[in-house]
Amino acid sequence: MPLYCKQCEERRYPLYNTNDKETLWLCNKCQNYTDADDVIIREQTQEERDEIKAKAEEFERTSNFSGEKLSRRKGVN
Ligand SMILES: [Zn+2]
Repeated sequence: MPLYCKQCEERRYPLYNTNDKETLWLCNKCQNYTDADDVIIREQTQEERDEIKAKAEEFERTSNFSGEKLSRRKGVN
């Protein structure tokens, strides 16, 4: 399993893709998908980025986390 990106060595995340009917591995840093053989399938589309961002924001709202990405300044706990 391509758990770590071979380009930037970031952790990858498995995402089930309903169009392709298989699980692809997403690197948030490189913003591309690989299959289980670590072959890059395609780049992440803007639409998918927005979707993931929207889900993340909803998750933050519902789980009441204080961390709001890197755009928020540090120092406030
Ligand atoms: Zn990467």
